[in-house]
Formats: sequence, structure tokens, C-alpha cells
Amino acid sequence: MASFTLHGIPVSRGIAIGRAHLLAPAALDVKHYLVAEEHVEAEVLRLQTALATVHRELQTLWNELPKDAPTELGAFIDVHALILSDPMISEAPLDIIRSRHYNAEWALVTQIEELSAQFDEIEDTYLRERKVDIQQVAERVLKKLMGSEPLAAARPATLDADDDEVMAQMVVVAHDISPADMLKFRDRSFIGFVTDVGGQNSHTAIVARSLDIPAAVGVAQASTLIEQDDWVIIDGDAGVVIVSPSPLVLQQYRDRQLAAQRARKKLSKLKKTPAVTQDGTAVTLLANIELPDDCGPALEAGANGVGLFRSEFLFMGRAADMPSEDEQFEQYKRAVTAMKGRPVVIRTLDIGADKPLDPTEHTALNPALGLRAIRYCLSEPQLFLTQLRAILRASAFGKLRILIPMMAHAHEIDQTLAMIELAKAELREANVKFDAVVDVGAMIEIPAAALALPMFVRKLDFLSIGTNDLIQYTLAIDRVDYEVAHLYNPLHPAVLQLIAMTIAAGHKAGIDVAVCGEMAGDVKLTRLLLGMGLREFSMHPAQLLSVKQEILNSDMNLILPQTRKIMRSMDPDVIADAVAALHATPPL
Ligand code: PEP
Ligand code: MG
Repeated sequence: MASFTLHGIPVSRGIAIGRAHLLAPAALDVKHYLVAEEHVEAEVLRLQTALATVHRELQTLWNELPKDAPTELGAFIDVHALILSDPMISEAPLDIIRSRHYNAEWALVTQIEELSAQFDEIEDTYLRERKVDIQQVAERVLKKLMGSEPLAAARPATLDADDDEVMAQMVVVAHDISPADMLKFRDRSFIGFVTDVGGQNSHTAIVARSLDIPAAVGVAQASTLIEQDDWVIIDGDAGVVIVSPSPLVLQQYRDRQLAAQRARKKLSKLKKTPAVTQDGTAVTLLANIELPDDCGPALEAGANGVGLFRSEFLFMGRAADMPSEDEQFEQYKRAVTAMKGRPVVIRTLDIGADKPLDPTEHTALNPALGLRAIRYCLSEPQLFLTQLRAILRASAFGKLRILIPMMAHAHEIDQTLAMIELAKAELREANVKFDAVVDVGAMIEIPAAALALPMFVRKLDFLSIGTNDLIQYTLAIDRVDYEVAHLYNPLHPAVLQLIAMTIAAGHKAGIDVAVCGEMAGDVKLTRLLLGMGLREFSMHPAQLLSVKQEILNSDMNLILPQTRKIMRSMDPDVIADAVAALHATPPL
């Protein structure tokens, strides 16, 4: 097959070389995991059993048809039984389990998607519409499968680096992947991601970055042009996807992969080195986490604490089964104790926009401007109080700070603080321990907040700048929309002014200011942020050591005059060049 290259938006660094595994949207609705070689036949049997059960059910339906039933009904059952017996349904998914090691549900859905695509091409309308019958039959089988636990022998395989090469080299190609679905790939059975849509700072991209898996989004048409099992190279640094590469290109990328691995190994030696610039300016490096398990990589990278625990990841996809106070408490406590005395900033529920609680419910016309984050929490006081109590209870087990997302109005600050007092009063009443002087901070991620800082610094203990949303709302660019991704510019002078103002106002008021948006983990911007006065950076653990290295190689005597010049400019090109030069300059 001829090689071709696709271009998208780089979201997670590194190079992945593997076989494409196309994930149709429906496939995301069923469990998908890989079955270990020795359990494949048991999984095949599970699907065969489900197929046979549906067959028997159809037979019973047919036998029990009342004599006066319309003839169409009998014909309808006949068609379904025929479809079920067709090798395309009764055999092909079994082959998929055997060849690709997919679990039964995933294998069936994959085959149905392929068949559906073939049916879409049929000109005859009547025949084309038989696609619906196939899908109905598949749904019957899926229901049977979902009711049956995987046989003991066919439990999901846990993969590690030494596993079979085929399994360890899968690159997911999909039209889109929701942030919650992305989290399901934490078992690292996939080595890279490519999606047709998405922006650099969409939450899907953020999770890919936190998993430290090379990824490119906004690669328009990728899921149509790339075929199942094609060899694919993802250059996560450039956002380039090379399909069916020539042996020469493949070798070049393998060499680059090796060089990157060596560089990372070298960086790991900095784990215990304090982050101090050459002139002695100390910097705090914190980790962004999605779930308590991420504390492991955070400590591994030498983080001084957690600067952002995105607590909404405990809630996403659980609209019908929200985590209880106790369940939340256990998770927050796990994070706090895992960090062994280092501070943990827990952000209250930031649900909405591209992180819906229920992905099937899309009601708001502009969800990013809608009932999101603190707005949502204040509209659901019981849910908010439950979370606040759970967080406060965890504060008895280590250094914890509460961070509130998306505040813009004075009454939001007041209501939030009142809710926290109420949660404390409830705990006192129940004789439950908590940190009575727990710090409460605000995310500065709406321009209105950055322009009204006195309102915040008077009442709060710390600030954390959410540059992802600050850029989105300042520039009116949807961070998820790849069609406007080229306008999403962290170096826009308006954005830089708002960040600098926030850092200055926080420090003037004597309170901590961190950046926890993606800018904090971008090594090309480290010196600029240092020059603006930033001393607390919070980022994915995978980025931490590179940023530390940049800090160790920096000198404020050089950075400060350059930053002043950059901040005086209103010319985006001049700013971009000056920031690139600042990053590239060796220390004095
Ligand atoms: C931000 O907006 O910069 C931020 C850190 O929060 P999130 O990306 O979760 O919206
Ligand atoms: Mg945000």
C-alpha cells in the first residue's frame, strides 16, 4: 500500500509506531479490552454461546407466534434468524477475536460497523435499509453478552512491555474520543491515539498527555483514510501521522524513538534535584492529576505536590451512579496520603462543556458558556455540599487545599465560601475531623476574573491560573474545535497581559499564584513565565523533569529584561520570536 501523511494538531509528545485499530463510535459504548492468547478460545465460546442463545430465542418467538399474527412478523423473525446464521455475523467476529484478541463485544461491534459501512454503499434503498436489521440482531447478541460476565478464563489481559508484539503495538484511530473514554485506556494496551477532531487543549488531549502517550488530534478524515491494521507512525511532537511508511522512514522514526528514550532516562536523574535557577530563584513544581493513581507518576517525577486534582474525573460517565460522600472521601484521602505530606490541591467538580456528566445529554447551545463548573455546583447545592464534606474530611489526613473553578462573580465567591462553612458546620455537628483553616483558592480562567482580581485576593488564600480556559474565553476560541485551533494562541498579547496581571496582583496581596493550565508544562514557555514572576508551575508528571531542566538552565538576570520587552509588545510575531529566542538562549 502506498504511504501517505496526514497532518493534525500535536497534543502529546513522542513517537508511536504500531498497527491501526479503528474505533467506531459505537465501539466506545461497549467494553473493549484485549484477551490474552491463552484465553482467546474461551472468549470465542462466550460469543458463540450468546449467538446460540439469541438463535434459540428467535426460534421460540417463531414457534409461539399466534395463528392470526401478521405475516410480516414471521418474515421479520425469519430475516433476523437468517442474518444471525450468516457467516458475516456467526463467523467473522469469531475470527476478529482470534486474530486481534478483541473481547467478544468489541469484536461484534467492529464487524457490525464494517458491515454497516458496506450497506451504506448499496444503491437499492430496500437492501440498504436492511442495515437496521443487522444492527437489531447485533443489539440482541450484545445484550446477551453484557449479561454474561467474561468466563473466568477470558478475563482482560493486563499488558506489559514484554507482551506479545502485536498487542503492544496498537494505535487507536477514532473520529473522536471523549475524555472519560480516554481514561479507559489507562491500562496502556494502546501506544498512541489519532482522532479526526479535537483541539490541543481539549480534555481528551489533556488526558492523552497525562497518560504520556503520543497523540495527534484534528487529523481530519484519519478514521476514514486509515484502514484497520495499517502500519502507522504518530509523531506526537509535530502532529503528523504517517500511514504505511517506507522502510527508510520507519527506520528514521525508530532512531528518533530511541534517542527520545535515552533523553528521558537522562532526565530522570534530575528527580531529586531542587528546581532552582542559576541565580538561586527557587521554583515549586506540582503535578496535575485526574485520579489518585496518578500520584505514583507524580512522585516518580519528583513533584513537590499536586497542584490540580481534576476531581470531575471521578464523576464523568456516572450520571446515574454518582460517587457517594464516602467514596469521594476515600479517593481524596488516597491522593493526600499518597503524596506523603506534600500539598494536594483538589479542584471541586468542573463538569460541563467537553466534560459532560452524561455524554448523551447535550442540551446547551454553547456548553462552554453554560452551566459549567462552579455555576453547576451552586445550582446543585446538595451535590456540592457532599463533595465539600468529602474533601474536608480528607483534609484531616494531610495538607490539602480547595480550588474552585470558573469563578467570575463576587456572589459566586461569597456563596462558595458560605457553602464551605456550611459543610464544616455539618462535620462539626457530626464530630468529624477536618482542617478548620483549609485554604480555599480560585482558578483564574475567565478574563472577567483576571480583570477584577481585588475581588478575589481579598477573600481567597491562593490563585491558580487556568490558561486553557483563559485562552479559550479571552480569544473566543473553542478549545475543542480543530477548525479554529490555529487561532488558539497562548502568546496573544491579551492573554499574556492577563496572566502577568494575575501573578502580580497575587504576589502584591501576599498569596500564592500557580499556573495549572497546559502553558505550565510547555518548556518553550518556562522562561517567559519565570520572567512574569511565576514561581509555582503545575503540569502533567510527564512534563515535569523537562521543565525542571529548563529552570536549572535559566538565569533571571537574562530572563527579566527580555520578558519586560516581550510584555511591552503588542505584535504577536515579535512576541513569538522573542519567546522562542528566550527559550533558545543558553544561560549567562
Ligand atoms: C484550565 O482551564 O487551564 C485548567 C487547568 O482547567 P481545565 O483544563 O480542566 O479546564
Ligand atoms: Mg479550566
